[in-house]
Amino acid sequence: MNSQHSLGADAGLMLVISAPSGTGKSTLIRRLTGEFSAFAFSVSCTTRAPRPGEEDGREYHFLTREDFERRRSEGFFAEWAEVYGNFYGTPRQATIDLLAEGRDVIFDIDVQGARQLKESMKQGCYVFIFPPSPEDLEKRLTGRGTDSAETISRRLAAARCEIADSRWFDHWIVNKDLNLAYEQLRVIYLAEKTRPAHQASWLAGLTRQWEQS
Ligand code: ADP
Ligand code: 5GP
Repeated sequence: MNSQHSLGADAGLMLVISAPSGTGKSTLIRRLTGEFSAFAFSVSCTTRAPRPGEEDGREYHFLTREDFERRRSEGFFAEWAEVYGNFYGTPRQATIDLLAEGRDVIFDIDVQGARQLKESMKQGCYVFIFPPSPEDLEKRLTGRGTDSAETISRRLAAARCEIADSRWFDHWIVNKDLNLAYEQLRVIYLAEKTRPAHQASWLAGLTRQWEQS
């Protein structure tokens, strides 16, 4: 995915989701990948420690800082960013392989990483999810029970910057009512799939039938 990497016809859809931590993106992504099993989740690499219940290779590939830096210098990542004091990055080749196989790939990445992907790929649908209010975000981060008080206040401070840099996204969703937010995300996905670019071979066959009729 160097500059403007482009994939062939019938490549899968890149659905890139960004939101301040605690907004509910993992919850929404789990629901979408649960309903549409053809989806592949882009498993990022991170230097942060696993949370209880997280498995290496499922939520993330957990790397040491040295390993991350080595891979970064080898061009292993399609994008990477330092988020809340840890490194996170999207493996380039694994992503290209999934998309080239025609899999739709969902990305849970921060705003800086989403911007890098948008600059280097021609395709993609970029969705930003807002928490309803700073108070709600704090409640969700606390209620999740996975982060220390210090981590939570760091994430709340970062949310302000992320929201300030969200204007360029293709879609905005406010995750107040979870069912409504999910319905909006689902509709965005289904609408993106109707674009001719994601149905190239099928449409070519269809148009041939009409030409021959
Ligand atoms: P993220 O992946 O954005 O960091 P999570 O999906 O882990 O966020 O959600 C953070 C917490 O907020 C979880 O405890 C989740 O159950 C809760 N949550 C998600 N969406 C809503 C919502 N619409 N209303 C109330 N709580 C929510
Ligand atoms: P968490 O530690 O809560 O799992 O994730 C923290 C933040 O890192 C979230 O905003 C998440 O979207 C972001 N993130 C996760 N993986 C990647 C990645 O590969 N690249 C970038 N740029 N951000 C990521």
